[in-house]
Amino acid sequence: MAPSPRALVSGVGTATYGGMASTPRIAVLWFRRDLRLLDNPALHAALRGAERIVPLFVLPEPLPPELGAAARWWLHGSLLSLREDLAARGAALVLRRGDPARVVAEILAESGAQSVHACLCPEPAWRAADAALLESNCRLELYRSLTLFDPEAVKTRDGGIYGMYTPYANTVRGLPPPATPLPIPETIPVPKKLPAGDRLEDWKLLPKHPDWAGGLRTSWTAGETRARERGRAFLRGAARQYDTGRNIPGRDLTSRLSPHLRFGELSPRSLWHAIYRHEPGAGESVFAGELIWRDFAAYLLWHHPDLPDKPLRAEYEALPWRDSKSDLRAWQKGETGVPIVDAGMRQLWQTGWMHNRVRMIVGSFLTKHLLIDWRRGAAWFLDTLVDADLAANSMNWQWVAGTGIDSQPFFRVFNPVTQGQRFDADGAYVRSFVPEIARLPDKFLHAPWTAPAAILRDAGIKLGETYRTPIIDLAAGRERALATWKNTVQEKTARTGT
Ligand code: FAD
Repeated sequence: MAPSPRALVSGVGTATYGGMASTPRIAVLWFRRDLRLLDNPALHAALRGAERIVPLFVLPEPLPPELGAAARWWLHGSLLSLREDLAARGAALVLRRGDPARVVAEILAESGAQSVHACLCPEPAWRAADAALLESNCRLELYRSLTLFDPEAVKTRDGGIYGMYTPYANTVRGLPPPATPLPIPETIPVPKKLPAGDRLEDWKLLPKHPDWAGGLRTSWTAGETRARERGRAFLRGAARQYDTGRNIPGRDLTSRLSPHLRFGELSPRSLWHAIYRHEPGAGESVFAGELIWRDFAAYLLWHHPDLPDKPLRAEYEALPWRDSKSDLRAWQKGETGVPIVDAGMRQLWQTGWMHNRVRMIVGSFLTKHLLIDWRRGAAWFLDTLVDADLAANSMNWQWVAGTGIDSQPFFRVFNPVTQGQRFDADGAYVRSFVPEIARLPDKFLHAPWTAPAAILRDAGIKLGETYRTPIIDLAAGRERALATWKNTVQEKTARTGT
């Protein structure tokens, strides 16, 4: 059983250390999804309550699903960066792996620390670890620094949980703003002798043979310094046109902060306060709305721990998914014959990231046109995204599959051709990831199968040989999806009368 959050959580900036009978001399600072020194409430509370702290990171065993291959690659870089930042303030980072609750208990015993400070995480694995530690009477203090708003504080008028983004967003926008970010402490005193830890290299978080991470290395630098630079550059530049630019995958007009936020290299409230320092423009306001989407995902996972596995709308539990390994494989490899889908899936594979508009298109294509279970798509994303986040991924997959929070659940079927023509009108995105059709004129780029033979020949394309013909007839796939969703609801209504 997860412990009651209210019993555990200190509000940001309100931890009550002053009232303790005796000040603990040593505290464990357990880094989890807050791999940063700026605006880290757990770090500040640990320093307030103890003379020396033991900075700890535990690699959970077994690995949770959100630590897929690409996320592990990121984690390696993020831990290197955190280690350097700690060293610059006279501290070191103890690395251990294993069952988190057991490891933390061992560290407490080895270091003589009396308390543990960490950020509160909504993922079931962390909540289970927290519950186990509390049961063993560990003094665990948790801080809500992962989100802007406390999921326990946001309820509907009758005390329920919001199921739709808009009313949730309206409510949180009416709350007092998140607390002001905390500075980086000048020094971080650690005990003379820290508990022994693992070598990061021994965790083998980086791929060796084959080394598929070349594209990740050229696309990203993990760590707090880069996160802050990227955040500043975005707010000074592209944020101003974010309201119009965020849907154009061929242009670099979104923040690309998602992996930094995922690993907590940057706090959402630092961004929030940077946005609201002045009267925000339209672009910045829309961007703040995306940070609220992120919060909403954590909120949903907090209140629905089975969000990654079960449809939020129970009537869709019975959807008759197709089990086609070859279609799933074609989707994963970006070989469906539908250009914008293939471009998105190749961007994901090559760079560990995909533009949000295209995530929606490829998700809709998998779940609606191909009728493949959203959980298969979600699992692939968790393994290949550098920003793999259990809450955001599960919520968004349920959104695209129409099993969750979408206000138009099943009749929203994205047409990948018109989506491509609308949001990648100049073809820049498709051309950069699907070079084999790059020479097609814009008019046919998003539907090569409609191009006359002479145009295909001039563009050097032999459909079915140099580029695949679509694995599904898009119109027929759409009709099948609509009929399947409708029948599933009707059958449930007939069975239960609801
Ligand atoms: P920006 O547009 O600059 O947005 C700023 C930040 O807001 C993002 O970094 C992210 O933290 C948050 N955000 C933006 N959109 C969303 C959203 N729809 N839901 C939740 N948070 C959002 N995002 C993840 O961080 N991890 C995931 O595993 C993930 N899986 C997704 C799966 C699907 C099927 C879909 C449709 C979306 C998914 N997203 C996920 C949300 C979104 O696509 C990414 O957050 C966004 O593309 C990241 O790029 P950015 O940092 O440039 O975003």
